[in-house]
Amino acid sequence: MENKKLTNNFGAPVDDDQNSITAGNPGPVLMQDVHLLEKLSHFDRERIPERVVHAKGAGAYGYFEVTADVTKYTRAKFLSQAGKRTEVFARFSTVGGEKGSADAERDPRGFALKFYTEEGNYDMVGNNTPVFFIRDPLKFPDFIHTQKRNPATNLKDPDMFWDFLSLTPESIHQVTILFSDRGTPRTFRNMNGYSSHTYKWYNAKGEFFWVQYHFKTEQGIQNLIREEAEIMKGKDPDHATRDLHQAIEAGEHPSWRVEVQIMKPEQAADYRFDPFDITKVWPHADFPPITIGRMVLNRNPENYFAEVEQAAFSPANFVPGIAASPDKMLQGRLFSYHDTHRHRLGPNYHLLPVNSAKGCVVNNYQRDGFMRFDNNGGGSPNYYPNSFNGPKPDPNTGEPAFDVLGKAARQRYTHPNDDFVQPGDLYRKVMTETDRNHLIGNIVGHLGGAQKRIQLRQAALFYKADSDYGRRVAEGLKLDLKEVERLARMSQEERAKATA
Ligand code: NDP
Repeated sequence: MENKKLTNNFGAPVDDDQNSITAGNPGPVLMQDVHLLEKLSHFDRERIPERVVHAKGAGAYGYFEVTADVTKYTRAKFLSQAGKRTEVFARFSTVGGEKGSADAERDPRGFALKFYTEEGNYDMVGNNTPVFFIRDPLKFPDFIHTQKRNPATNLKDPDMFWDFLSLTPESIHQVTILFSDRGTPRTFRNMNGYSSHTYKWYNAKGEFFWVQYHFKTEQGIQNLIREEAEIMKGKDPDHATRDLHQAIEAGEHPSWRVEVQIMKPEQAADYRFDPFDITKVWPHADFPPITIGRMVLNRNPENYFAEVEQAAFSPANFVPGIAASPDKMLQGRLFSYHDTHRHRLGPNYHLLPVNSAKGCVVNNYQRDGFMRFDNNGGGSPNYYPNSFNGPKPDPNTGEPAFDVLGKAARQRYTHPNDDFVQPGDLYRKVMTETDRNHLIGNIVGHLGGAQKRIQLRQAALFYKADSDYGRRVAEGLKLDLKEVERLARMSQEERAKATA
């Protein structure tokens, strides 16, 4: 092996990396030991801001392969032909914990994908759950505060957690999934990924469709039960990170079958559920999933910080053929993801190798900014329009115009769909008796830490989803069932007042 020479960051040789320069022996240390100064000052700056959410994660490279013709729905080139492969980078994560938190925590899992397509990078920033806790981005910072630490004690706080959720009834569907065993997946390989949001696909004729993505694990769904998760948190806080790395290293490449549900605009107009409400799914019987591809992860990153910590996904990274829907949470995320990356990594984070486009050339008039480490456009024009052969927009790549209706205002949510129907269906129709037993046990163990009035308010929401569900939670917490039933009959405002 070549004996490499140690240098400083500017390439000059280092004569000694073990002994600081001192005046006499033992010292003091001299200011002119510039090698020591450089080494310490770089070390002092090793940490970048931790992601506010999804701080702990693991990532890998692989490919997405198209297996069906979807050209009647979308003009996206990476989806244009069966057999076509596109390189992807995936990052899986927990949401609420810090960078050193345990992989086995009860939490949704992030399922973020970057497709390096020939028309630019396309990101799908999903979760392992098909729904979310809230449907308005204005609630997001408050919601996340409640999942993190109490401002006084710096401890996780069941009062904060359940106070917010019990005052936010639209969360009941996601709460039911989170407290099922799917809230503690056995590994990142053993979980599904969902776009959760509705997106728009449009084809070459300008027709558009609403779409939701499902990534179904080919390793099979496997979860940790509560007791296993508790043990795993202590035994190996990094178990899912380790599992992903080791599986890929051993050549056991995890894969997911990719399905979409497609809704025509005319179907959306009078559908019984709001298709743009992220707290709802589209029942499979109404919109059967269609298999369109397969994703395989087959390469580990070489450097965690460079490729996983600095990976930056955004649902605003669209390619022609794919666009946003009016889903309010999605609209908020279109802003928030790029914004957080500019804060975390700087305005030129798109130049970092893991984030930069690989399938096409990037050409625009944006220049300068911190850490601009490419040639910054060289001597080419930095304004548009110009008559010096600079890059020109292609009007044929835009999203077709669409109609909007109504008043600009802070609109109360008035869609007649009921927030309790789908969690009730999940509890009654989809879960087995074992699933239900685990769900109740998981809820009782956690909600039991909150004040009684909050327990009552939350139990009333479970009761509204399904009376057996509410009754069993009430029994587990030794709550007065009559009081839970009385609260369940009240409006949300009355219930909040009665349990204030
Ligand atoms: P289906 O019976 O057609 O589908 C139910 C789906 O539920 C399954 O395909 C499976 O999705 C998922 N599932 C199974 N066990 C659990 C569990 N313990 N926790 C969470 N999800 C589970 O019924 P519907 O489409 O009418 O949906 C009924 C309910 O199922 C929904 O209200 C929702 O709570 C849940 N669900 C629905 C999904 C959808 O897109 N329609 C997706 C996931 C859950 P998968 O194959 O994706 O694992």
